[in-house]
Amino acid sequence: MKTILDYEQHINATSIEEAVAHLGGGNAVVNAGGTDLIGTLRFEILPASMYPKKIVNLKTISPSLEYIKEEGGTLKIGALTRLEDIAESSVVKNGWAALAQAAHKTASPHLREAGTIGGNICQLNRCWYFRASDNAFNCIRKGGNMCYGMAGENRYHSIFGAVKACVAVNPSDTAPALVVLNATIKTTKRSIAAEEFWDVAIPGSTVLDEDEIVTEIQVPAFSGKSAFVKFALRTSIDFPIVNCAAAIGSGDARICLNAVYPKPYRATGAENSIKGKQIDESSAAAAAEEGVKGAMPLTGTGHSPGNKWKVSAARGVIKQAILACK
Ligand SMILES: Cc1cc2nc3c(=O)[nH]c(=O)nc-3n(C[C@H](O)[C@H](O)[C@H](O)COP(=O)(O)OP(=O)(O)OC[C@H]3O[C@@H](n4cnc5c(N)ncnc54)[C@H](O)[C@@H]3O)c2cc1C
Repeated sequence: MKTILDYEQHINATSIEEAVAHLGGGNAVVNAGGTDLIGTLRFEILPASMYPKKIVNLKTISPSLEYIKEEGGTLKIGALTRLEDIAESSVVKNGWAALAQAAHKTASPHLREAGTIGGNICQLNRCWYFRASDNAFNCIRKGGNMCYGMAGENRYHSIFGAVKACVAVNPSDTAPALVVLNATIKTTKRSIAAEEFWDVAIPGSTVLDEDEIVTEIQVPAFSGKSAFVKFALRTSIDFPIVNCAAAIGSGDARICLNAVYPKPYRATGAENSIKGKQIDESSAAAAAEEGVKGAMPLTGTGHSPGNKWKVSAARGVIKQAILACK
């Protein structure tokens, strides 16, 4: 088991430029709150060849990347802003409720005080094969040649198929809220629409280059209603089994699930079904039904019951998220 002291270099970056200069070539990784990163390094879940030599601390950057402000109707959140601050912000609660609710439902109070929005959207997946200590399963996401979730214990895995032969799901709670609210992720190189931000990389989960850092999240003004609903096994602290964000208003509807596919998953069937309709029990239920059409749950093998049950859970959170936008 490694500790942070085992790394050749721990750099307290004082500027974004300095942080970027240390990245690239697979040699370094950035650390924000560390609530995800430190576990992945400590338990050595990756093959030795993928271990970074340097950890670049972003929290020492000045001026700080920790802020929430509204400028010309656009919400701007620095990448190092802690989830608890987003959850408690009256600006976010009033204008972009789904995002405040998603931040509030993430992990536990302690983790929200340390975990940042940038880290939340860049976190690695939680597949137990991928996360096993000492790289016990060198899966396809780490350059191996098989997805153990596809044929193994897969009750929490994708219900909408594989991406690049991997059925691990994206576990972020804030991601679907950012997708439905049409957010833009600003980085040291470019602006990326939230919907285009996630990818099944080795071993990552985003389209970011190795030497690219998220600096800010921008969310345009939104005049309708938005909401976030999460289903997890424990309410005190747990990753989502499935979550759903909805943003409905002005004849438009955007609905996004997460934890059901390797990337956040737009429930377009549900969007088309509810768009322009009055929201009530029956229209929400009908839209939820459309939202899970095309699900391909994994079959059980050995001790695994498979994950057909997650389809019902997804249907339930879509319906609840729509009703919360009434
Ligand atoms: C017990 C437990 C429960 C959890 N429950 C939940 C949950 O319910 N929902 C949920 O969504 N998450 C959950 N998490 C995951 C995690 O705590 C949160 O996602 C948190 O927001 C991660 O933020 P961080 O700043 O700590 O990220 P870090 O651990 O610092 O970083 C995570 C990853 O993002 C990269 N990164 C960080 N910042 C940037 C940046 N600005 N630009 C580019 N890359 C960056 C890092 O290199 C690393 O790969 C849980 C974690 C634990 C340990």
